[in-house]
Amino acid sequence: MFKKVLIANRGEIAIRVIRACRDLGIRSAAVFSDADRGALHVRLADEAYYIGPPPSTESYLVIDKIIDVAKKSGAEGIHPGYGFLAENAKFARACSDAGIVFVGPPPDAIEMMGDKMAARKAMIAADVPIVPGTEEPVEREEQAINIAKEIGFPILIKAAAGGGGKGMRIVAEESEIKSGVRGARSEAKSAFGDDRIYIEKYLARPRHIEIQVIADTHGNCVYLGERECSIQRRHQKVIEEAPSPLVDEVMRKKMGEAAVAAARAAGYFNAGTVEFLADQDKNFYFLEMNTRLQVEHPVTELITGIDLATEQIRVASGERLSFEQDDVRIRGHAIECRIYAEDPLSGFLPSTGLLRGYQEPSGPGIRVDSGVYEGAEISVFYDPMISKLLSYGKDRKQAITRMLRALEEYRITGVANNIEFHKDILKHPEFIAGNLSTHFIDEHYRPAEEPVSEIEEAAAVTVALAEHEVRNKVTLSSLKKNVTSSWKMSWRPGSEFNKK
Ligand code: ADP
Repeated sequence: MFKKVLIANRGEIAIRVIRACRDLGIRSAAVFSDADRGALHVRLADEAYYIGPPPSTESYLVIDKIIDVAKKSGAEGIHPGYGFLAENAKFARACSDAGIVFVGPPPDAIEMMGDKMAARKAMIAADVPIVPGTEEPVEREEQAINIAKEIGFPILIKAAAGGGGKGMRIVAEESEIKSGVRGARSEAKSAFGDDRIYIEKYLARPRHIEIQVIADTHGNCVYLGERECSIQRRHQKVIEEAPSPLVDEVMRKKMGEAAVAAARAAGYFNAGTVEFLADQDKNFYFLEMNTRLQVEHPVTELITGIDLATEQIRVASGERLSFEQDDVRIRGHAIECRIYAEDPLSGFLPSTGLLRGYQEPSGPGIRVDSGVYEGAEISVFYDPMISKLLSYGKDRKQAITRMLRALEEYRITGVANNIEFHKDILKHPEFIAGNLSTHFIDEHYRPAEEPVSEIEEAAAVTVALAEHEVRNKVTLSSLKKNVTSSWKMSWRPGSEFNKK
């Protein structure tokens, strides 16, 4: 087993891994940029290394800097968390070139799954059902028209190198194909430096259901049930839960075995997630494989009792999985709400600034994975996620009740947040009934104001940056005064601070 692991990440996921290290009796080394000098992950780690200026392109994403400090620290392993370098095959190779173990899958598997076309081909070979569509990149617009006619409209044009919902275009009819192909290609080129595109059938009201897998380097590969992540906004997950209200024992076994086949086809080890789209008739189709620990992994931990982060480190160090497929038992129900510093009332614009008042909920069945504290800053430089709020109950009903209690208890002042938005979703009769689809938010949520245009969004970001500069000049005493007053106010029913 390792004696020290370096964590090439920040925020809640860095802390999640620090805790896993501590549970295993391993020393943890953090990295930080100038913006994160006072960050919680830096305080909690056993040691911390400076890696540069706030923009991640100058710190958290610079492979050489990470490898340098890892060597300096004497860490035998590097855990990448999610995001940043987690799915970067070059980074995984740089780790092994430096004689350090990358806590994740082999670089070849990252590469194969990072290319959606290569992944689709491998799935066909492994007999895993894929969304109907093309097996080769689409070069010409006429080709796209023929394919669309064959599989039927609507179609989805996707970037082979895609990720984060970028480079996707829904095309409803023939007249839109040309602009769709051009648009997707140029977006793919600028986002990924790769303009290859392909076509999939656009499934009507699908559910997003994914399977967690974990494999060791001794040939053992196990699935840990599913997570339903259908509650999405702009193709990004907002609420996740496990088990899925749609999935029964038969479907779970089928999907689990397909996911294990997918992992084996990629020569996979360590933790990974095989994402599927499912229709209401329980047919499912491979979407992509995420070759890392996911944001939503804790819902699986709660219903299986398996600690995914420690298991990842154990198998990376060469140990065998501590359980077999038959040992995996699903018990109860878990839900995760992603708590963001963003304003649902103004088009979900990120809201950066100081967390003037901050109190996390707790009590029976509640877990909060966060990377912040009262007085900490939600920086313009990184993802504005404040925390992951999780509830666990003996069944779905209890998990929802407990989540609503926790959302009610959560106190955040200083930045806008999406707590009220989560409450609205959890109280919706269709959510309670488990009637989910990836269109749930579009169909059921009516924002109070019109969504903002791109120009307005750019203007708001400029203002946020300017405010950020001013805020840095605020003296500590004036800050303290504000903490007390807004804090008290936040508990008064109907207070405007309740919303801020
Ligand atoms: P990315 O890698 O950019 O996140 P994915 O392929 O994982 O893209 O898809 C993200 C989301 O987009 C899915 O969860 C689903 O909501 C939607 N989506 C993707 N492909 C399809 C499809 N063929 N039909 C309908 N919705 C889709």
